[in-house]
Amino acid sequence: MKGHVARKRFGQNFLVDRSIISAIVSVINPQRGDMVVEIGPGLGAITGPLLARLDHLHVVEIDRDLIFRLKGQHTRERMTIHEGDALAFNFATLGTNLRLVGNLPYNISTPLLFHLAEYASSVRDMHFMLQKEVVERMVAVPGDSDFSRISVMLQYRFHIEWLIDVPPESFDPPPRVRSAVVRLIPRDVSELDAGDPGKLAIVVQTAFSQRRKMLRNTLKGILGDAGFADLGIVPTLRAEDVPVADYVRIANYLTCPQGIPSPTSPVT
Ligand code: SAM
Repeated sequence: MKGHVARKRFGQNFLVDRSIISAIVSVINPQRGDMVVEIGPGLGAITGPLLARLDHLHVVEIDRDLIFRLKGQHTRERMTIHEGDALAFNFATLGTNLRLVGNLPYNISTPLLFHLAEYASSVRDMHFMLQKEVVERMVAVPGDSDFSRISVMLQYRFHIEWLIDVPPESFDPPPRVRSAVVRLIPRDVSELDAGDPGKLAIVVQTAFSQRRKMLRNTLKGILGDAGFADLGIVPTLRAEDVPVADYVRIANYLTCPQGIPSPTSPVT
C-alpha cells in the first residue's frame, strides 16, 4: 500500500482491483467540467482515473498523512483538498449540481448517508461504495425484512440504484463484508414532499424503534385512531410494511391535520 498502514479508525480499505475501479469510473461517467467531489480519496485508487477525465476535482479527506501525500501529487489547479471530517463538511458551500462519489468509510456509512441526504438539493447524483448490507437496506421495499429507517429516509429524497457487486478481495486490506456500488439521484421535490422533514424523521424513527409492532402502538401519542382513519392507513400495519409515501402523508398530517396548505395560500 505504498508505505501507508491502513487505519481501521478511518475505515481504510483501499481499492486495488483495476477492473472494479474502471467499472466505477465508467458508471460515474465524469465529463470534463463536472463538479465532482470525492469523499475519502485515500491513496487515490479512484481519484487518479477520475482526474484523468476531469478539469478539476474536490476531495474531502480526514487522514493527515493521506492529505500530505495528495498535496505532493496534485496541483491546486487540478485538485481542491478539503481537510477534515466529511460528517461535518458543508457540501452546500461547493455550489449546486454536485456529483458526490466515494468508497466510503464503512464505520461511519450510516451517519454519513444521513448527513449527505441533507444536501439533496445541491446534488446532481451520488455514487458510493458501501457494505452490501447497507445497500440492501437502501433499496429495500415495504415488506422486505431489510426495509428500515434508512430505506425510508433515503428513498424519500433519492431514487436509488444498485450497480456493482464487489468482493472483499478487491480491497487491501480486504473488509470482512461484501460491498456494492450504488447510485442515488435526488427526486423532484414534487414527488414526495414532507412540509416538515424533521417531523418525517421523528415519525420514521418512532415507527422503526419497534419495527415488528403495529403502528397503532408505536405511534401511540403521535397519531390516534382518528388520524389513521383520516389518512386511510391501516393502524395494524407494522413499520416494515408501510410505503415511503405513507410516512410522508403521516408527517404532513401531523404538521397540518386540516390538509397541506397549497403553495398559493396566503402566508399569515
Ligand atoms: N478512495 C480510496 C479507495 O477507494 O481506495 C479510500 C477508501 S477508504 C474505504 C475510506 C477513505 O475515507 C479513507 O481515505 C479514509 O481516510 C477516509 N475517511 C475516513 N473517515 C473520514 C471522514 N470522517 N471524513 C473524510 N474522510 C474520511
